Amino acid sequence: RQDIGKISTGTNSLDTLFDGGIETQAVTEVYGEFGAGKTQLCHTLCVMVQKPKEEGGLDGGVLYIDTEHTFRPERIVSIAKAKGLDPEKTLDRIMVARAYNSAHQELILQEAGPVIEENKIKLILVDSAVGLFRSEFLGRGTLSVRQQRLNKFMHLLSRTAETYNIAAIATNQVQSSPDQFFGDPTKPVGGNVVAHASTYRVYLKKSGKKRIARMVDSPHHPEQEAIYMLTEGGVAD
Ligand code: ADP
Ligand code: MG
Repeated sequence: RQDIGKISTGTNSLDTLFDGGIETQAVTEVYGEFGAGKTQLCHTLCVMVQKPKEEGGLDGGVLYIDTEHTFRPERIVSIAKAKGLDPEKTLDRIMVARAYNSAHQELILQEAGPVIEENKIKLILVDSAVGLFRSEFLGRGTLSVRQQRLNKFMHLLSRTAETYNIAAIATNQVQSSPDQFFGDPTKPVGGNVVAHASTYRVYLKKSGKKRIARMVDSPHHPEQEAIYMLTEGGVAD
């Protein structure tokens, strides 16, 4: 079994929350309301994973499964500059796969093996893991099919992270107001399925100009919170 690697977030507060960084061989679920910073954290990690080990990275490439068309190359350029990396080279090591529907999202992951090996991928991001499933399977009648398909996807993500010793991030948007199916706004939609397949779960929320991250249900982290900011250079203390 290979050693577990960690990707620094580039901030002291979030690194403390994650006990050093985002781990390989694990799925980390990042959930929160729209605008909480899920996608900005993903973009920051796309850059940080490329840093050498001495600087908190894994000298690795990225597979970014973009389901909501929110990947922004110009954000990578800004963050890479802020972190002292060459923007063009940094972009070159990010393989962006746009998923057009949930079946395509599954297919991208099923066929990711050669891409992972050829590009020394050390981080897979699925932003959002749940969105396409949610929009395609509406209403109570389709809930069980949706949960089965999502479950299959999440387990494949988990196996991929273990097989290739890479870190996986699955984002999940929660409703800002309670709705009839899911009640508690702090409980992510698609809830249990994603939670069960994830090793770590982090809840992000807005608090004025700042953001708060809370480690939830971790097997070995204390239940604690970290305060961070969203800046031009990515997540920051
Ligand atoms: P989520 O994915 O959780 O819905 P995002 O990660 O897209 O949320 O966060 C969006 C927020 O990120 C914006 O409301 C803004 O506060 C912040 N943000 C985005 N780009 C920048 C930037 N270039 N400089 C500073 N803050 C930014
Ligand atoms: Mg987003």
